[in-house]
Parts: sequence; structure tokens; C-alpha cells
Amino acid sequence: MLTNDELAKWDRESFFHPSTALGQFARGEAPQRIIKGGEGVFITDRDGNRLLDGFAGLYCVNVGYGRTEIADAIAKQAHELAYYHAYAGHGSEANITLAKMVMDRAPEGMARVYFGLGGSDANETNIKLIWYYNNILGRPAKKKIISRWRGYHGSGLMTGSLTGLELFHKKFDLPLAQVIHTEAPYHFRRPELTMSEADFVAHCVERLEALIAAEGADTIAAFIGEPVLGTGGIVPPPAGYWPAIQKVLDRHDILLIADEVVTGFGRLGSMFGSDHYGLKPDLITCAKGLTSAYAPLSATIVGNRMWEVLARGTDENGVLGHGWTYSAHPIGAAAGIANLKLIDKLGLVQNAGETGAYLNAAMRAAVGDHPNVGEVRGEGMLCAVELVADREGRQFFEPAQGIGAKVVAAMLRRGVIARAMPQGDVLGFAPPLCLTREEADQIVEVTSEAIAEVLG
Ligand code: PLP
Repeated sequence: MLTNDELAKWDRESFFHPSTALGQFARGEAPQRIIKGGEGVFITDRDGNRLLDGFAGLYCVNVGYGRTEIADAIAKQAHELAYYHAYAGHGSEANITLAKMVMDRAPEGMARVYFGLGGSDANETNIKLIWYYNNILGRPAKKKIISRWRGYHGSGLMTGSLTGLELFHKKFDLPLAQVIHTEAPYHFRRPELTMSEADFVAHCVERLEALIAAEGADTIAAFIGEPVLGTGGIVPPPAGYWPAIQKVLDRHDILLIADEVVTGFGRLGSMFGSDHYGLKPDLITCAKGLTSAYAPLSATIVGNRMWEVLARGTDENGVLGHGWTYSAHPIGAAAGIANLKLIDKLGLVQNAGETGAYLNAAMRAAVGDHPNVGEVRGEGMLCAVELVADREGRQFFEPAQGIGAKVVAAMLRRGVIARAMPQGDVLGFAPPLCLTREEADQIVEVTSEAIAEVLG
């Protein structure tokens, strides 16, 4: 077996890590952690540390680590049929069965599911399908996509454009011209402190209407949004936001993509965020929770009104020129089947709602009154603590101070992983859906200690 020193050296010398400070990492100035195993909500690293993973990897290991049911299903599939493509009507027992299971769980009004590999490629698929749809309908100018500032939809060319975070645009020549951004439904950062949630929803609607009027509804194809903003700060929408937005979209014949990469398959305590907030999407993006990240797989669930036009399109134009070699990969599908069965068997959707509510309430009780905590917010098994320099005047910290990152580092020293969200000093929590109350207590206690250590 390799020593930790050897692996660490190879890592610094050979591995181009995603979302990493490349130079600092190569020079040994940025931290390195080599993960060895996991069980339930805990992971262990090669130095023998056992850490409570309060972010489920990247909010994806929803059933928790070390599930032998999924590992066995993957192994069985690899022995039986590791791969065959899904082009031109080919399928396998695994991917056909998973398609049926996804459609059985999907919100009303959905017609078919297309499988890819991850959230970014699924959103890429969505935009292509939407452009195709409008071309088939004879509306070649109706192509722009509205996204929200602080939305996260991936880091490809189109999906990085849809993402509304500066880090993903800066120096990459993004966003692309077809993407336009509107107000984030982020009540805590509302422009006027006096705005109630209802006022702020009206403000978001006004901004959206103004954007549509300025661009022309006949140039706008779709609106994409996460039911709860995730990477942009874990921000549940203000009450009434989604019905109000949906009304505007319907009036202008603009399609809705619900990006449920984080919320799909239970995280909010409902099977889908679309059910949770009463959205009527035309496309639903899923990834992470579909397999709990035991294997890469994404899903684009296509609604009825789009499906009919797509089918007409291929009648008129021949086969759909879209697909990946690994679309609907049988090993990903086998992982997905075992994962969805486990979610049902363990009642994890319900636990996400109940233990998630417990986590949020306990967090609010423990740190909600701290002078540097501006807001504790969450929904289901998602929770965020937003840190501010001055609570009364709602002054934010200077980004260069890196307060969120410092608190997260202090938590790590105490054995709990939280995520410093990329924009603002927001501590993010998205534990596996199997979290217990005792484990939630541990997260809360460590958060409270770490905030006290960094901010007094
Ligand atoms: N959409 C949302 C809402 C996400 O949170 C993410 C990833 O965090 C993505 C899309 C992109 O998914 P992936 O990283 O699998 O490409």
C-alpha cells in the first residue's frame, strides 16, 4: 500500500483538481485531504480522522456512505452488462426500469426521461431541447434563457452562463449572449430593508416583467431556477414567489426549467421541489440524489407539451441529433434503482422533512441570536447560517476577510464538515437524508463553538 506521503506528493504533482486554487495547491500552500472511506454520515481520511459530513459530499450522498445494497447492485450490473449504448432504441433492464421508477415519482404532467451523466450536461441537454422545440414551432427568434443571479446550473459553457455567480464567469468570457439574468429571490439581501416578503416578491416580478419587456417576449424561450437557491447561498424562496413567477411565464409563453439537481428525490422533505412549491415545469433537471452519487447519472424529465413537439420534430427531421456515449449508463442506472429503493425503504424523504426541520430549529436556537448571525434559514435537509459584520445595519463582511471559510475551518478541526458557500459568508449544511437528531445536535454544537472561536 502507498504511504500517505507518496500519495500526497503524487496528488500535488499530477492531479488537476476542480474548483481549486491551482498554483497554491501545487505549491503545497492550499489544504489537501485524502478520503479513504465512509459509513452513514461519516467519512474517514487517510490520517485516520473521522468527520461528520454535513454537506453529503456536494449535497449528493443522500442515502449516506457505505450502502452495500447499492455497491452490490453496481457490482452485479458490471458483471452482467457493464455497458451498452442507448442510441436508436437500445436499452437494458437497468435503464428501462429506472426510467419507469423516475416517471412513477415525477410530478404530474411529465412524459419521458432522458439520462445523462451529471447536472451540467443535463442542463445543456435542456437548452438544446428548448431551442429545438422553438425551431419546430417556427419561432427561431425565441431562444434566450432567463436565469437568476446566484442561481447555480453547472460549469459548462452554456450552464456556466446560466449560473449567476461571478466566480464562474470571470475570465471565462461568460455568460454567453443568449443568457440573461434577473433578480435572485433572496429576501435577506432585499434592496430596501423595509420590504416585506410580499413586497419583495412583487419587486422580483416587476424586475422579471421589465426584463421581458426590454428583451421582447418573442425572444425569450425559457426561465431556469432551482426551487431553493443552492450554491448561491441556500435560500428558500419568499412565500408566494413561485406561483407569482409561474404566472408571468405562462402569460409570455416562456417555458420553465426546474433545476432539481439538489432538491430532486427528497432533500426538501418532498420527492421533488416542484411538488413542494407547486411549480409546473416543462423540464426537470435531476442528478445528485438520483444515485446518491454512487455512480454518475443525471436525468432530464420532459413535460408533455415539449414531448409532443419533440416527437413531431423527429418525424419531420429524422433522429434527434443529441446523445452521449454514456447516456443512461447501465451501471449508473443500477445504482439509481438501488438508491431509489433504499430511499423508500428507509423513509428518507420523510426523514429529510422531519430531521431537517429539527436541524433548522436547533441551529436557530443555538446561533440565531449571535450578533454576527444575520439569518438562519433552510428547508427540509438544507440549512444556512449567514454571517454579517453588523446585524442591525445588515453590514456584510469584506470578502477578503474570508470569515465564512474561517468558521468552516474551525468546524473541521472539531470533526464536522460544512461548506463555505462561494459568494458571501454563508455556512451551508446539506447532510445525508439519513441524519439522526443526535448527529444534527453535533452539527449545531460544533457550528456554535466555531462561530464563537472566530467571532467571539
Ligand atoms: N444544478 C444545480 C442546482 C447544482 O447544484 C449543480 C451542482 O452542484 C449542477 C446543476 C451541476 O451539476 P454537476 O456538478 O453534476 O454538473
